[in-house]
Amino acid sequence: MNNLENKQISKSKWPLILDLVALIAIAVVGYFIYTQSQTIIVLKNEMSSSTQILKQKIAILEAGLATSTLTSDQLSQQLANQQNQSNAFQNTISDIAGTIGTLKKLSETDKELLQKYSKIYFLSDNYVPMSLTTIDGKYLFDKTKSFQFHTNALLFLTRMLDQANNSGISIKIVSAYRSFGTQSTLKNDYLVTYGSGANQFSADQGYSEHQLGTAVDLADEKSKSPLEISFDSTSAYTWLSQNAYKFGFILSYSKDNTYYEYEPWHWRFVGVGLATRLAINKINFSDLDQRTINTYLVSIFDEQ
Ligand SMILES: [Zn+2]
Repeated sequence: MNNLENKQISKSKWPLILDLVALIAIAVVGYFIYTQSQTIIVLKNEMSSSTQILKQKIAILEAGLATSTLTSDQLSQQLANQQNQSNAFQNTISDIAGTIGTLKKLSETDKELLQKYSKIYFLSDNYVPMSLTTIDGKYLFDKTKSFQFHTNALLFLTRMLDQANNSGISIKIVSAYRSFGTQSTLKNDYLVTYGSGANQFSADQGYSEHQLGTAVDLADEKSKSPLEISFDSTSAYTWLSQNAYKFGFILSYSKDNTYYEYEPWHWRFVGVGLATRLAINKINFSDLDQRTINTYLVSIFDEQ
């Protein structure tokens, strides 16, 4: 009986235990779910917070980027402005340097070299050219003599005579630089030879130009009597008429001029620029006004 009872009791206790176990299991699962959900909430909050911070950081970076882009544009603009100003300044400096160079060149160029001389306006007795060079004897008509010429113009003269020689025309120098003393002696000789008529003689009109050191009297090498009007019928004169301007030389006293006696042998260096202008326009040096002539002074020795 006891055993049966025990069995019955045991039997009646089982559902209770099962209920208890189930209850515990539910509690455990419930707790687990609860803790998990709490963790999820915390994580969600953290994530939300991080996202907010991240968003703020991005916004700050974007703002910074916008500011730096703007600053960069402004800097570029400022740099461009500076460069423009610098370029303008450079140009101004170049202009000033150019002007100074021209003025310096002009101040160093003898203004007498392009002066028009006449019987009433002539060079000072004391005038001496800046620099003279002795002409190579091979260019002289009379090789026993010695002549000098303006140093800066000499190369133009010898080139001209060399060029003529290459064309089969032999032109020689009869006279070149003459100092005031030489000129006076020459004039006295003329006075002795020709009497008071010598005042009308060509020695007067070429006076200043020979004293400048930039005038030459030329002759055909074969001529028996140089410095005569007949020189203009020689091939030497024809060649000079067509080519002398290319070397900066002009005929000072041309046949058609109304001021002076004709001297086909007397040539003066005035620079290639001016000589070319006179040749192209077929006008005489003496017919051009002094102001216009002076504009060629700065480039008188320039090769063109
Ligand atoms: Zn002369």
